[in-house]
Amino acid sequence: MNPLLKAALAYAARGIPVYPVHWPHRTPGGANQACSCPRGPACDRPAKHPLVRHGVKEATTNPDTLGRWWRRWPHANVGLATGIVFDALDIDGPAGLTALHQLAPTVELRLPGPLTATGGGGWHHWFAPTGLGNRPPHGLAHVDWRGRGGCVLAPPSRHISGGSYRWLVGLDQAPLPQVPAALRERLDPDPPPLTRPADPTTPPAPGHPYGRRVLAGELAALGRATPGQRNHTLNRTAFKVYRYVASGLLTEEDVTAAFTEAALAIGLDAAEVGRTLASARTAGLANPRGVRCPGEDGSR
Ligand SMILES: [Zn+2]
Repeated sequence: MNPLLKAALAYAARGIPVYPVHWPHRTPGGANQACSCPRGPACDRPAKHPLVRHGVKEATTNPDTLGRWWRRWPHANVGLATGIVFDALDIDGPAGLTALHQLAPTVELRLPGPLTATGGGGWHHWFAPTGLGNRPPHGLAHVDWRGRGGCVLAPPSRHISGGSYRWLVGLDQAPLPQVPAALRERLDPDPPPLTRPADPTTPPAPGHPYGRRVLAGELAALGRATPGQRNHTLNRTAFKVYRYVASGLLTEEDVTAAFTEAALAIGLDAAEVGRTLASARTAGLANPRGVRCPGEDGSR
C-alpha cells in the first residue's frame, strides 16, 4: 500500500482526522523541490497547504474518503487536525529549542510524550488535547501551540527542503501526556492588567494581545501606504487581520471599525472602503491564521 495512505489510515484509526496537503516535487530539469500546486516554485507555503478546498475543516477519519484522496493524489502530504485526539507544541528549529531550554532551569518542564522531527529542522511534541485553540505561548519565541482548529503535518510527509517528517518517539512508545503546568500557564490568555489605563475613559483594548499586536502593525502599514496603493494595501492588511478573527484572537466588529476609521483617515472613500473590507473579510475568515500548518513563514 502507498505508505502515505497507510499512515493516513493509521492516524484515522486512532480517531485523528486527516486531510491531504500539497507535496514537494522536483522541478523539471531543476535540482530544487517545488510545491505541487500551480504556483510551483513561487508558492509561499510550499508543500504545506491543503489540497482540499476547506483544508483541515474537511479532515476525516473515513477510510473510504482517505482512500479516494490518496488515489487521486498518491504523493499528498498527510495533514492532521489538532485539538481532537492530540495538541502539539511546535518548536521552530534550534531557536525554539533555546527558548524552551531557557525556561527549563526554573520550572519542571519534561516533555516525555510522542515526538516528531519535522522535515525542516523543527519538532512537534504531542500532548493530550487541552481544549485550547492555536496560540503562541507567552514569552516563548519560535514556539507555537496547535490546538482546536489547528493542524500539523505528520510522518511520513515530506518537507520542501527534501527532508521527511519522522517519529523520534512514536505513538506506541509513549502515551499522550498532559501539558506540564509551566507550559499550560503560558497558553492561558494574558491576565488582566493590574493597573487601569491612565485615562479612565479609555476602554481596555479587546481581543487577544497577540491579535492586537497584529492589528496595530497592519494599521500602521496601511497608514504608510502611498497614494495609488491605498485600496490595495487596505485589502492586503485587512485580509491578514481578519484571518486572526477567524481563529478567535480578535472580534470582527473591532477589526472592521479599526480599518474603516484608518482607511477613511488616509482619504479612501466610504463606499470603496466598505467593498474592500467586505472582500478582505470574506477571504480572511475563510483562511484562519490559526489553522495554517507550521512553517507558513517559510522557515521550515
Ligand atoms: Zn503550493
